[in-house]
Amino acid sequence: MANASWFSHGAAAAPETLGLVMLQADPHAWRLDRSTQLVAVSDALADGIAAAGKLRTRFVDLSPEQIARELGLHVEMTDDDPMVGSIWRFAEYRPRPPRIVLYSRGLSPLERNLTRSRAVRLLGRATLRDVFIAHELFHHIEAIRPDVPIARRYQPSLLRIGNWHWRTGIGAMAEIAAGAFAQSLLDLPCHPKALDFVAVDAIAVT
Ligand SMILES: [Zn+2]
Repeated sequence: MANASWFSHGAAAAPETLGLVMLQADPHAWRLDRSTQLVAVSDALADGIAAAGKLRTRFVDLSPEQIARELGLHVEMTDDDPMVGSIWRFAEYRPRPPRIVLYSRGLSPLERNLTRSRAVRLLGRATLRDVFIAHELFHHIEAIRPDVPIARRYQPSLLRIGNWHWRTGIGAMAEIAAGAFAQSLLDLPCHPKALDFVAVDAIAVT
């Protein structure tokens, strides 16, 4: 597929569609049947939206960075290599002490490749920094709330012996929810997973 159409598909796709793509990329998701996958995706999206709604009620006009500060989270930039194995990092949440780390070298190819018109279609009035901080804020909220982590709500059995099940979580669920959280908190035109379509181009030519 040409780059431009990759971008258009990503930007135009419904959160449910992008969420399902994300879920199906998870190494354990194939163990869930199709209807359970669909329910899991809408559950993750709804969780992110509900968490964003609660935070917006509490901090009406604040930016994600200001909210982070109110919650006692540091936001820092690092020049570290964004690539770990096959994973390209833009940002991450680190729990001890709680902070959000932005990878400047991870974000810069994305910033370069995000033309003005693409930025408007993907981000509306938000910035990339807002989106990545918002995403990591969700991981912080998940880490400190008492609920069962979303990644463990759908636990396929890896191995079953009699009544004993060895179960695994699905990490993609937290990523789907974190994206929905950022979309809702910042009123983005699409689920920020669509940014990956821009990033893939940018990183491939870096
Ligand atoms: Zn994440």
